[in-house]
Amino acid sequence: VVGDLFGIGKMFLPQVVKSARAMKKAVAVLTPYMEAEKAAARADAEATGAEVAASNAQGKVLLATVKGDVHDIGKNIVGVVLGCNNYEVVDLGVMVAADKILDAAEQEGADLIGLSGLITPSLDEMVYVAKEMKRRGMTQPLLIGGATTSKQHTAVKIAPVFDEPVAHIKDASRVVNAVSDLLDEDRKKTFDDANRKLQEELRELHRQKIEHPLLPYTKAREKRFAIDWQAEQISTPAFTGTRVLEDVQVDDLLPFFDWTFFFAAWELKGKYPKIFEHPDYGPAARELHENATAMLRRMQDERRLTARGVYGFWPANSDGDDIVVWTDATRSTERCRFPMLRQQRTSDPNKPTYSLADFVAPIDSGLEDHIGAFAVSAFGAEDLAAEFEAENDDYNAIMAKALADRCAEAFAEKLHQQARADWGFPDTAEHADDSDYLVREQYRSIRPAFGYPACPDHTEKGTLFDVLGARELGIGLTEHFAMTPAASVSGIYLGHEATRYFSVGRIDRDQVEDYARRKGQSTREVERWLAPNLAYDPAD
Ligand code: SAH
Repeated sequence: VVGDLFGIGKMFLPQVVKSARAMKKAVAVLTPYMEAEKAAARADAEATGAEVAASNAQGKVLLATVKGDVHDIGKNIVGVVLGCNNYEVVDLGVMVAADKILDAAEQEGADLIGLSGLITPSLDEMVYVAKEMKRRGMTQPLLIGGATTSKQHTAVKIAPVFDEPVAHIKDASRVVNAVSDLLDEDRKKTFDDANRKLQEELRELHRQKIEHPLLPYTKAREKRFAIDWQAEQISTPAFTGTRVLEDVQVDDLLPFFDWTFFFAAWELKGKYPKIFEHPDYGPAARELHENATAMLRRMQDERRLTARGVYGFWPANSDGDDIVVWTDATRSTERCRFPMLRQQRTSDPNKPTYSLADFVAPIDSGLEDHIGAFAVSAFGAEDLAAEFEAENDDYNAIMAKALADRCAEAFAEKLHQQARADWGFPDTAEHADDSDYLVREQYRSIRPAFGYPACPDHTEKGTLFDVLGARELGIGLTEHFAMTPAASVSGIYLGHEATRYFSVGRIDRDQVEDYARRKGQSTREVERWLAPNLAYDPAD
């Protein structure tokens, strides 16, 4: 009943997950009795030679977060929603290699495979899994979900490499319809036809889009966003090098919470606190918030979640499209370099092209500019979630992880406020108390995060973690540069008045080759990491 009500928008995700918890706990009580009955039935059947009814689940779905990725909140929600609709779910967890997923699917006799991932390198990994499915002659339909996945990417890159249906699932509210259609003999064809037709249209749109020419990289550089550098616009930070913050408590972070994103994680859309007045799900949002607040209290009181972070400043200048970080104020020795990418789009020929390097004073300006950097994590959520899972409490397991994400983001916001003060442009007293001012990031300075649109190359987190010494704090990187624990945020700080977020978008082969040279990597390697940004097919 709950599944049906969710399907027609009369119940909402938190309520579904809570109902599933009631069901799971009840089933756990009943299971020993049911097993005993089944054993008795089997004994009877053996005596009489009758058939024993098999599991009455509607089908078996195998779920996994792909190799190199650690994010699983969405996947876990999808698992609960499927379970609630009487599908058997085999969840392999996070960072699961392709062969492990496909071996398990075969051993388990899965009817469907669902892949999840949040970071852009997971997109390529999903293409690989699909290719492997084809190579192994597998026939299960494939479902794709997660933050950076899209109908477009699924249509253009994944569906063409596998002959069976490949469907992108936008969120947990869509998964049951897709799965039930795909597992029904008659409806499967209708679903598949519509899906293939949509994907063909999306591929056509994509073909038209990539025919749109880009600026040659040399031209793009000429049209760069040029700041008229003046010494008085440059602030000098109060210190250089790194500072570590240990044992940061939940209570320190609460004032910096952006609750709107918390509700979004539970698929309740709307701005906090107005969401409480929502005509349909206001009450559900309120209850969710009460449960979250109670869990945060517990996390604080029992010290189940603590945060650690590091931030710092270094003398820096731009050199073309690289940001050079110097070892010290003499600016004679390079400590490291962050090669940046530049927009090559031509939608408006009068507009400048942006690269993050534009916001740092060039070496030949003679100006003593700086950049900052940070990495923060919330520790403890995985253990807490495992305890809840052992108690058949997926609701609180998901809650713990969603709140840990909030704590890490809040820490990033808090630390950025500290960094602005250190850099000489503190928030005013009136701003310091205005959480909306922080949520809307209206202050001077930005904290671009590697893997995001202005600097889409995740691999730069390697250099970032080196300068910060982030690993010494227990913050790690997977082979695909996802941060561990999952509740982590990192990035650089840029401080000029004119800084802004933008999207690099599609880039051409000329820039990729230049970038590969600057990074000291092969073009192939760069093409692999920047696959979602390429305006060309590397195979051509
Ligand atoms: N307050 C939110 C975080 C918002 S996401 C929360 O609590 O979850 C905004 C962050 O994403 C920015 O601070 C920046 O770190 C990153 N970001 C957003 N747009 C970006 C872009 N175009 N390029 C690089 N980083 C970006």
